[in-house]
Amino acid sequence: MDDNIEPQVLALLNRARRIFVLAGAGMSTESGIQDFRGPQGLWRTNPASQRIFDLQAYIEDPAVRLAAWEMRSSSPILTAEPNRGHQALVDLSRTGRDITIATQNIDELQQRAGSRNVLELHGTFWQSRCLDCDDRRSIDEAITRFQSGEDDPHCFRCGGILRTDTVAFGQQLDPRVVGAAMTAASTSDLALAIGTSLAVFPAAGLCDVAIQAGADLVILNGEPTGYDRQARAVLRGAIGEVLPRLVSQVDVYRPSPN
Ligand code: NAD
Ligand code: ZN
Repeated sequence: MDDNIEPQVLALLNRARRIFVLAGAGMSTESGIQDFRGPQGLWRTNPASQRIFDLQAYIEDPAVRLAAWEMRSSSPILTAEPNRGHQALVDLSRTGRDITIATQNIDELQQRAGSRNVLELHGTFWQSRCLDCDDRRSIDEAITRFQSGEDDPHCFRCGGILRTDTVAFGQQLDPRVVGAAMTAASTSDLALAIGTSLAVFPAAGLCDVAIQAGADLVILNGEPTGYDRQARAVLRGAIGEVLPRLVSQVDVYRPSPN
């Protein structure tokens, strides 16, 4: 990595008052949760699992739902703990800056680390949601039913199909959550995209919103992303190493005198 980039990013962080973070699955790989598109990602190790995230296939095919409940009931999300990267974003907010984190992750680890202002663009794993009546409740209930022998637990209220309360391919994002993320992106002076391939829209488009509003974009990711050319700086490295190192050097925010 170019040794000059970290000092440049540090200067941008020190200058920033409002920071918009767009986080992706790479943020949680160091907590033991596989990403989709990274070198060890689910799309490379088990391409067939993509059907689980395809809403139409999920509704039409009981075998897809069975595979989905098998995956959920043994998911590393159930036992994962926040890592140094999550903690670094909490520490960054303690420097007196206004930070909003729009996350594509469904694991709630950023919130558990202690961050406030977390927008869940793709929902949460931790709730089940009925596709018919929208009834939401703790995912533990459906997983317990699955583990007790129900292959395909259905909604207690209306008998509808249950999923996690997450956005599948082919489903719209919650417009209120997207609206809040757009506001945060367009009022930020610095946008940080961390651990995301920036290949999933509309989430990745939040980088455009921030840039068009005049913010600098900084990318921290293990691999190239679709936005590297638009970025003011690109840091290539492990989030759990790079982010705490940077944040530990950020000054407490003091408004400039002029
Ligand atoms: P992605 O899988 O497309 O990209 C993740 C990126 O992170 C990759 O480019 C990878 O190289 C990089 N990466 C992985 N570990 C890293 C590390 N330790 N340090 C630096 N870089 C690292 O993920 P995405 O862009 O978030 O989009 C995938 C979709 O997957 C999202 O919609 C999200 O909802 C979902 N997802 C969520 C979780 C989770 O909640 N933890 C896990 C897997 C997938
Ligand atoms: Zn229902």
